[in-house]
Amino acid sequence: MIAEIIVNSSVNELNRTFDYEVPEEYTIGENIDIGYRVLVSFANRKSFDIGYIIGFKERSDFKCKKISKVCDRAFDNEKFMLAKRMARRYFCNLSDILKLLVPPGTVNNVDKIKPKKERCIRLTQNFKDNESNFKIKTEKQKKVVDFLKDNVEMPVFILVDVTGTTMAVIKSLEEKGVCESFYVQVSRNPFVNKNIKKSFPLPLTDEQKEVISKVELDKTQTYLIHGVTGSGKTEVYLQIIDKVLNEGKNAIVLVPEISLTPQITDRFLSRFGRVVAILHSKLSGGERYDEWHRIMNHEARIVIGARSALFAPIENVGVIIIDEEHDSSYKSETTPKYDAREVANEFSKIYNCPLILGSATPDIRTYYKAVTEKSIILLELKNRISSFGMPTVNIVDMRNELANGNKSVFSESLFKAIQNNVARKEQTMLFLNRRGYSTFIMCRDCGYVVKCDKCDVAMTYHITKNLLLCHYCGAEKKNVSICPSCKSNNIRYFGTGTQKIELQINKTFPNASVIRMDVDTTQTKNAHETILQKFKDEKIDILLGTQMITKGHDFENVTLVGVLAADSSLNIGDYRAQERTFQLLTQVCGRSGRGEKLGKAIIQTYMPDEFSIQCAKDGDYIKFYNEEIKVREKLNYPPFCDIIIAVISGGDEAEVSKDAKLLFDIMNADFETFKPMPAPISKINDNFRWRILVKAKVTDDVIDKLNYCLENFSNMKSNDTKISFDINSNNMV
Ligand code: ADP
Ligand code: ZN
Ligand code: ZN
Repeated sequence: MIAEIIVNSSVNELNRTFDYEVPEEYTIGENIDIGYRVLVSFANRKSFDIGYIIGFKERSDFKCKKISKVCDRAFDNEKFMLAKRMARRYFCNLSDILKLLVPPGTVNNVDKIKPKKERCIRLTQNFKDNESNFKIKTEKQKKVVDFLKDNVEMPVFILVDVTGTTMAVIKSLEEKGVCESFYVQVSRNPFVNKNIKKSFPLPLTDEQKEVISKVELDKTQTYLIHGVTGSGKTEVYLQIIDKVLNEGKNAIVLVPEISLTPQITDRFLSRFGRVVAILHSKLSGGERYDEWHRIMNHEARIVIGARSALFAPIENVGVIIIDEEHDSSYKSETTPKYDAREVANEFSKIYNCPLILGSATPDIRTYYKAVTEKSIILLELKNRISSFGMPTVNIVDMRNELANGNKSVFSESLFKAIQNNVARKEQTMLFLNRRGYSTFIMCRDCGYVVKCDKCDVAMTYHITKNLLLCHYCGAEKKNVSICPSCKSNNIRYFGTGTQKIELQINKTFPNASVIRMDVDTTQTKNAHETILQKFKDEKIDILLGTQMITKGHDFENVTLVGVLAADSSLNIGDYRAQERTFQLLTQVCGRSGRGEKLGKAIIQTYMPDEFSIQCAKDGDYIKFYNEEIKVREKLNYPPFCDIIIAVISGGDEAEVSKDAKLLFDIMNADFETFKPMPAPISKINDNFRWRILVKAKVTDDVIDKLNYCLENFSNMKSNDTKISFDINSNNMV
């Protein structure tokens, strides 16, 4: 029997099957099947490669090698069919999708992560039967033996601890044959250090009851829960999951960048305990591996995680929930460039279960579908749980501040509000959409900007290292005090980063305590959690942070939110700039006044008339949607079409531009295609990049046509250029 195998590779030419002979001792349907991972010797390589079996046949036209080793089963037939559709839909190799289906950390090495084993000690049978034959000499030895008699068996580290003995004592007992070691498999538990209190279902508000009653289980249907911040969406999810578990089914919950929102996972853990499995990138490889296996063994029945948790080996799914569905992290920006919301929709058909999307600021495309198509049912939570309702939001025009001689980053009114809040012992969150000390460094005389040598981007100054960093490739450079171009010493630091603001807060509010949360302070494992816990428990006056403080947090003592510069997301050169700004401002203002105190938010801006800022002030999503959808329709942007970005890249600039023109000619025959141009970031890591934009409404037919263009192009392009297609990418650069 011959197995058809896909090898683990992103190389385009290897995106096909290879034939290998199945060893005699294996029988299809028993110990080998479609979806098994195998080791094969591929080409002339010395080491083994990982392959996936995707089919069988009686004989091959080639002389085949034998499969070297049969490993674990990674997927079943249904997941395989889905993987095939995804590979076409997201323009990648089948193995790029298949690797999402295997235990984390084992993509390139099946045995890399080993189950964790713990050494335990027990008395030998011989000792138990013939105790009188053994001489227990010392007091310490006697203590160990007595302890084991009472306790049967014990992990060795506990035994040593409770009997106050040493490893040497245990070793000598082992040598005498009194006791013996054995190993048991244990789970690395990522929650061991957590002290989580059990919580119980809350009596629901009428709005919450209404929403829950509308969701039909046992049926494929997508719902959008549009609920203002603090309207009790999470409680709704918890109670729907409770119903699903009672029916004997399981649940998948996706949350954005889960490690940023420990509060959400805690709420699930406190309600459901250890049947919750958590999968995200901040867990250690071993922890992720064990969580994956707890799901496989049916120990865990609820999976919570970032987008890839969708592919966890959970069966019999009764509901899929995507919280904060507008969040950009649901769209992958690396291969495979899939959108978890689209894939979740496919899964809900396979499992015949509802898909619930929730947000205070739904993606314009999702909301458009919910109001124009039957494919999404719109459910609403219009009121906050807190009796004080939504926070009051004020806009400050920073141009007036400047005119009045205030050059500080704090407007008069934000300054006063912070001062009052500190005096009242209430907490404040300050939001800045940047990191680092300054955004970039420029010579005031000649305009020279320090850029990365390998990437076409300005480098960012980091005060703690006194270095310039490239945020694209990570390259570092020494800081400059003299302009490398004109030798002037008139160097200026432009833009304001969180580190600089922290210093200013310390100066401006000497009595206030401050804690900072951004990419730099959250490098280590659990750093997010530690910062947020400190802010909560130690009643730190001010939490200063970037994007990561905007999502999901629920601190009842926060009554003031300050947005230092609302405009930075308006200037991102993206058709979604207004949407992003509205979402960001609504989410961050929504952190204020969630407890039983009135909340307040102040938005500082140089563009107070922008409608995204005005609508965020009024907390009016519908008004924003109605404006924005008109613009989208007029300019033919999503949801009225999809935008496909083709990036052609390579080390030779002339070849890249030549191939870009070639691709343009191919695409332009079938699609509305824009002229090829160097990408806004025209070089990353010494690779030149050209970009082509294509507008098309994506259907199965269009996907086929795009794949056809891609194949055509791949046959004609020069060997060194690479091509990538991405539908509705978050990244226009
Ligand atoms: P959202 O997810 O919509 O932002 P949450 O679910 O976090 O809102 O709810 C906001 C706050 O209200 C939380 O502290 C939550 O515990 C509380 N809450 C939610 N539902 C109820 C309810 N039915 N009764 C009392 N408190 C509730
Ligand atoms: Zn770089
Ligand atoms: Zn200069």
